[in-house]
Amino acid sequence: MLKQNVGILTLDVSRDLTKQGNLLYRNVAQLFVLTALGTALLLGFFIHHLLIRRLRVLTNELTTLEQQSTWHTRIKLSGSDELGQLSSGINKLLALIEQQVTSLKLLSLTDPLTALPNRREFDARLRQEFARQKRQRIPLALLTIDVDYFKFYNDHYGHPAGDLILKEIAEILASAVSRSSDLAARIGGEEFCLLLPDTDAAGAVLLAESIRSKLQARNLPHVASLLSDRVTLSIGGAIAGDESIEAFVSRTDHALYRAKHEGRDRVCFDAGATE
Ligand code: GH3
Ligand code: MG
Ligand code: MG
Repeated sequence: MLKQNVGILTLDVSRDLTKQGNLLYRNVAQLFVLTALGTALLLGFFIHHLLIRRLRVLTNELTTLEQQSTWHTRIKLSGSDELGQLSSGINKLLALIEQQVTSLKLLSLTDPLTALPNRREFDARLRQEFARQKRQRIPLALLTIDVDYFKFYNDHYGHPAGDLILKEIAEILASAVSRSSDLAARIGGEEFCLLLPDTDAAGAVLLAESIRSKLQARNLPHVASLLSDRVTLSIGGAIAGDESIEAFVSRTDHALYRAKHEGRDRVCFDAGATE
């Protein structure tokens, strides 16, 4: 009898224990699932915040850069992790590209012998200033300068010596223009131009004569010249009028032609199209 009672008691305890065990298991499982979910959420948040969001910023900035060629901009991604290091590497590359683009641009607009602006830069500035004088009704003067008997100079003294003369003339022209809006350019072989915004005929002729005087003062020998034993210049000039750019430039060229035809070493000015 006693043995049976004990047996029943043992059975009750084990059922209770199983129940409790199941409950505990469920609780632990729930806790585990909740913790896993929380961790996943937290991980997701951090991955998004630290990685995906910043990758998106990087992609957007690179796309804008590629579309607009704005090499002066820099990627704004902070942090010293791999992404931060990647963006600072890209920024160093951008600085290099910006530097290269600037110097290429300058090279493409500069004459290598004299370091003056070249024909491309001159044409662009001429279009700009011509449009501005039309809008604002301010005078625009153009001077075209050509070395006299320069072929004979090269033939006699050699091409390298001729190059030195071109450099000297470029120096004189660069020092002759005083305003930041003035432009001295080498537009071809031994031809130069001065573009002088807000300058009237009298001012332009005065400047042209001062250039001839400065060259005279340098006293550069040219024994092969048919005109003088020194290097001389012929200068043609015009004031922009109510005409096309081509007509304006052509009047300047005509004035230069006249200076050559009338004996060289002089300034001829055509102020004809002014009202
Ligand atoms: P003109 O008085 O009629 O202007 O006679 P010119 O001999 O100056 O004119 P022409 O057009 O016959 O000759 C221009 C010369 O300029 C020929 C060419 O060898 C020379 N020249 C052009 N570019 C350069 C250059 O970069 N360096 C040197 N040294 N000479 C050049
Ligand atoms: Mg010439
Ligand atoms: Mg010449």
